[in-house]
Amino acid sequence: NSCKMCKSADERLESFVASKEFDTAFHRTETQKQKCGFGLQGVCCRLCSNGPCRITPKSPKGICGADADTIVGRNFLRAVASGSACYIHVVENTALNLKHVGETKGIIKSEKALNHLAEKLGIDENDKYEKCIKVADAVLNDLYKPRFTKMELVEKIGYGPRVEKWKELGIMPGGAKSEVFDGVVKSSTNLNSDPVDMLMSCLSLGISTGLYGLTLTNLINDIMLGDPVIRMAPVGFRVIDEDYINIMITGHQHSTFTSFQEKLKEPEVVKLAKSVGAKGFRLVGCTCVGQDLQLRGEHYQEIFAGHAGNNFTSEAVLSTGAIDMVVSEFNCTIPGLEPIADELKVKMICLDDVAKKKNAEYIYLDRNKYDEIDRKLINEALESYKNRRSEVKIDIPKDHGFEQSLTGVSEKNLKEFLGDSWKPLVDLIANGTIKGVAAIVGCSNMTAGGHDMNTVELTKELIKRDIIVLSAGCSTGGLENVGLMSPGAEELAGENLKAVCKQLNIPPVLNFGPCLAIGRLEIVATELAAYLGIDLPQLPLVLSAPQWLEEQALADGAFGLALGLPLHLALPPFITGSKLVTEVLTEGLKDITGGHVIVNPDPKSTADQLEEIIIDRRVKLGLKD
Ligand code: SF4
Repeated sequence: NSCKMCKSADERLESFVASKEFDTAFHRTETQKQKCGFGLQGVCCRLCSNGPCRITPKSPKGICGADADTIVGRNFLRAVASGSACYIHVVENTALNLKHVGETKGIIKSEKALNHLAEKLGIDENDKYEKCIKVADAVLNDLYKPRFTKMELVEKIGYGPRVEKWKELGIMPGGAKSEVFDGVVKSSTNLNSDPVDMLMSCLSLGISTGLYGLTLTNLINDIMLGDPVIRMAPVGFRVIDEDYINIMITGHQHSTFTSFQEKLKEPEVVKLAKSVGAKGFRLVGCTCVGQDLQLRGEHYQEIFAGHAGNNFTSEAVLSTGAIDMVVSEFNCTIPGLEPIADELKVKMICLDDVAKKKNAEYIYLDRNKYDEIDRKLINEALESYKNRRSEVKIDIPKDHGFEQSLTGVSEKNLKEFLGDSWKPLVDLIANGTIKGVAAIVGCSNMTAGGHDMNTVELTKELIKRDIIVLSAGCSTGGLENVGLMSPGAEELAGENLKAVCKQLNIPPVLNFGPCLAIGRLEIVATELAAYLGIDLPQLPLVLSAPQWLEEQALADGAFGLALGLPLHLALPPFITGSKLVTEVLTEGLKDITGGHVIVNPDPKSTADQLEEIIIDRRVKLGLKD
């Protein structure tokens, strides 16, 4: 393929994409190079028919009189509300799935996780199925509260000192769905014009997004899908085996597949695969739901091939020709997949109409008809395999990725690994062996230097400075595919961190899995802070979503800011057209929640900035330099 292409930190992926004729995000990045300056700065408004109005020095106000601050504030709040809505959709479905498990006495994979969550929420119930229902109802009831009725579980799952701060600031969220609804109302035409008030709404949305959409989704999933187990697993395209009927799954709602993935293990179903010449069925992980499967891979070894790659790797995964069906249930199923699927005769099925694809068959996920739906999915996969394999050339770059990558890390098993206490980690931080912790989270994008470029470079710079990296999201998919979670990665770390890695037999970057696992990182952070008896902004811990992509990432970011953490982004979130909004997010917030945004596209100087913050916090805590 002679077209110009965007670079990737993953060179083998880049050469594979270049060897194919398919149009991918790597190519379209080149044709979309010319960006709209108004859009970039967030100063284009098209909320009414007088617009679109665009702010320039000569025309500083829209026709209605809205200035750059109001326009940027409205655009930003809209984006955060949309991102929050996506996560709330995920936790709502997850809670409904748990309720269904309780009502139908379905599969509970981890009673330990059920008891842990019930206890956290203050639910006292002996019957495990009733307990599922009560846990699910507690979550759902909060999601459906009106906006000015505060959510009850925030006080139970939020970190005490933070909850006090949020109360003091008046940003405790009301019902999560109503917060989204009113965020949209607030940012509509000729309503709110106060950017600071809108930014405060963003923080409330951040809290409900984070504690419910992120933290609770994981804890509920642990009950239905099994607790993560730390283990070594292969990653990259090498996990795809053409001898199987391969189903690529994309999205964020793993519990949507609970029944299906259990079915695929059944001997009768394996027999069906054998009847058409395959060895069985395999789920190929791609995007966050694949990462969640990888995280829990211990429980799904018979049917999970492994994690192939992140969101912008998915087109290349499909273009191997070895995927027979795509089952999607949420976002990160990029539209670019559709023509490749058509060309390679890959059946596309969609299990949630919010993510209905043009060429996909939509199946309404009626929880009372799992059997029927599973049978339909299996039959479609069999048909697709039969119809396409003789006609399509398969080309899997088996040298892509790594045979061994550490995966399955969670807030619970990391603590267990350390001896059921955070003391060993705290001691390593206190005596300066590990300087601090960086959470590298969020998506992958194509514009911050190229695919995964900033994420990988920044991570390398941080570990070189003896800062341990915890990772969640599509960024993790990029980091594992370049070997940063594989044996040998410790050689890239500073001397002290390298010694710790060798002693504990861990890589310098720990894989917590999907973007939802940002909620797990929040638990790690709060437990470390609680152990030390301090609030989160005092911790030598920084947050970076170097290659943030979507509105969801902005809602994640709002959570990080509400937690009082420094948040680095390589690209600004379309706010720079407003001096006021930019100033509040990058400086003013320090005196409000303690958090602030750092925008820096250069990985090396970003690492310097983050290291400086960590050192400053160490000094304030009286820790060794
Ligand atoms: Fe222009 Fe105001 Fe209408 Fe926006 S709401 S398009 S700034 S007139």
